Amino acid sequence: MCELALLHGKGYSYSAYCRCERGRSALKLDLHCHSHFSDGKHAPRELLEFAAGQELSYLAITDHDSVDAHMTIAAHRGYPNLLPGVEISCNWQGQELHVLGLLIDIHDEQLSQLLDRQQRARRERMDSMDRRLAALGIHGLAEHFKHQHCVAQTRSYVADFLIQEGVCKNRAKAFKRFLGRRGKAYVAIEWCSLAEAVARIVASGGIAVLAHPGRYPIGRLKLQSLLSEFAHVGGEAMEVSYGNLDPLQLKKLASLALEHSLYASMGSDFHDASAHWTGIGKFPSLPQESMKNAIWEHPRWHQFTSGTTGR
Ligand code: AMP
Ligand code: MN
Ligand code: MN
Ligand code: MN
Repeated sequence: MCELALLHGKGYSYSAYCRCERGRSALKLDLHCHSHFSDGKHAPRELLEFAAGQELSYLAITDHDSVDAHMTIAAHRGYPNLLPGVEISCNWQGQELHVLGLLIDIHDEQLSQLLDRQQRARRERMDSMDRRLAALGIHGLAEHFKHQHCVAQTRSYVADFLIQEGVCKNRAKAFKRFLGRRGKAYVAIEWCSLAEAVARIVASGGIAVLAHPGRYPIGRLKLQSLLSEFAHVGGEAMEVSYGNLDPLQLKKLASLALEHSLYASMGSDFHDASAHWTGIGKFPSLPQESMKNAIWEHPRWHQFTSGTTGR
């Protein structure tokens, strides 16, 4: 079993020591980021270069409803510090949630089918959004997508298109006026259920992690019931730390993870190096109370990183 201890303040938001077979060595992790196969700006290789620049021991690329980044990298091999991951959009009681699948089998048949279905739903939604925008006199969304790398189409591309066309000044305004729930071009999407997302992740050998629990517009009681149900359907971890989290929320999330017997995960949710508030490896350190349930204590983590299975 890895023995870990926190190491603060070396310019990284999080770092740890891992005492493994190879002796004591520094371990720094980022378990949530996006490549240009979903709504990130960078190719998977660039993400790995950023991770190397930050001396990360492990990076999980977790694109929205796609594992294409991993398929591409797998073809090149030689990146032992890349961990397989995905971020699945799902529906729970009318609320859209994101569940990360870490250490999944990217070739798992049923997981692939689910991701294909979600990608198709995203394309169909974009066709509808294109028609809505055209009706408002804004043409060219379909053309815009032809020049992108993404296989999972997200609304952030539509926001960038609206900025490029001079319709909106920034993404926040694009979401408010057009793309958010009350926006003029909003089209709902039928995501899979929370239970299905978790089941597919777990069946492929992965750890299901509730992404950024503090970002959903739900109250304290509803969050409690979400975490209970998430654990009940097989979810095993939640993000306790992520980009731009304030210290109070960090503490709150750490105690919620303990209360619901969930492992504590962490990641930057990095998308784009030109957005300077974010960066690979940039998020608050896990608090001390999360050390005993930190995600690297999960048996699957040890099994995977010691190379006994799953690679
Ligand atoms: P989608 O998967 O199509 O629902 O798009 C969601 C993605 O759009 C998120 O992962 C964010 O990257 C981005 N996003 C969502 N809401 C906003 C917002 N209000 N402002 C800027 N970006 C947003
Ligand atoms: Mn995103
Ligand atoms: Mn997310
Ligand atoms: Mn994300």
